[in-house]
Amino acid sequence: AQVPTITLNDGRSIPQFGIGVWQVSTDDIVPTVSKALEVGYRHIDTAQGYQNEEGVGEAIAASGIARDELWVTTKLANGKHERSDAVAELKTSLAKLRLDYVDLYLIHWPTPNSGDYVETWRGMQDCLEQGLAKSIGVSNFQPDHLDKIISETGTTPAVNQIEVHPTFANQAAVDGSLKHGVRVEAWSPLGLGSDLKSPEIGEIAARVGKTPAQVILRWHLQKGYIVFPKSVTPARIEENFQVFDFELTADDLAAIDALDEGNRTGPNPDTFG
Ligand code: NAD
Repeated sequence: AQVPTITLNDGRSIPQFGIGVWQVSTDDIVPTVSKALEVGYRHIDTAQGYQNEEGVGEAIAASGIARDELWVTTKLANGKHERSDAVAELKTSLAKLRLDYVDLYLIHWPTPNSGDYVETWRGMQDCLEQGLAKSIGVSNFQPDHLDKIISETGTTPAVNQIEVHPTFANQAAVDGSLKHGVRVEAWSPLGLGSDLKSPEIGEIAARVGKTPAQVILRWHLQKGYIVFPKSVTPARIEENFQVFDFELTADDLAAIDALDEGNRTGPNPDTFG
């Protein structure tokens, strides 16, 4: 099975599928990332705030996989939004990851009420210029936050990583990203597992001979989203990767689109921080 790649607005090619490691504990992180790499995952999504960058680095080092075959994303912590924080914090992350650069560095949250995310964005550009990050982007940016950093700095993020899953389409944030050529990364793609219980998804899964998780992940891929489901269970890490050998029909995609009920599971970016 081949993982598709997507060309970002900075010309770089990102594997459309990876593993996310939010809430993966110190005990689980090395075996989880090692298992994913063994299965064929080449894209890992972590963050300073996940407190597992060391384990990600340990698993990558142990894998022996060439650096240029991997895509590693990490994120700048909230509360570190001074312009000079970005380079300093990324250097700390790189030491933990045992890497010279990350493929993608994101502002984790805009925290619009407690900092100046335009200055933070200038710090991300410093990371790019110093070669510490090959691509830079944002996460949880609402359309007005994106509009503002682009108009004030003239630099467009490569991605916006936002909550998207069948019961939470987050369409305004999706549209506000795509209109600038910013690709969408869909976080909590399975709704933290809750969307797997949908009877409509169960019906499609039974008909196409796949699991509900595979059907939802396929929906993300066909909508053009970059996606990195989290699991620490080896069988599920394998299951989630078996999504490149079937296609959903336009009717199936529309039926899943219709499950949107505004079911946000995480904080609202306008009021968080
Ligand atoms: P997810 O939607 O990937 O759900 C993960 C949960 O779904 C697992 O803990 C497990 O309970 C269940 N699951 C996974 N595979 C399954 C399978 N095959 N069968 C049955 N159940 C299964 O949730 P997530 O971890 O929140 O999101 C994925 C990644 O997105 C994170 O790990 C992180 O990298 C990123 N993320 C980013 C932000 C952000 O603010 N930028 C926020 C949340 C998550």
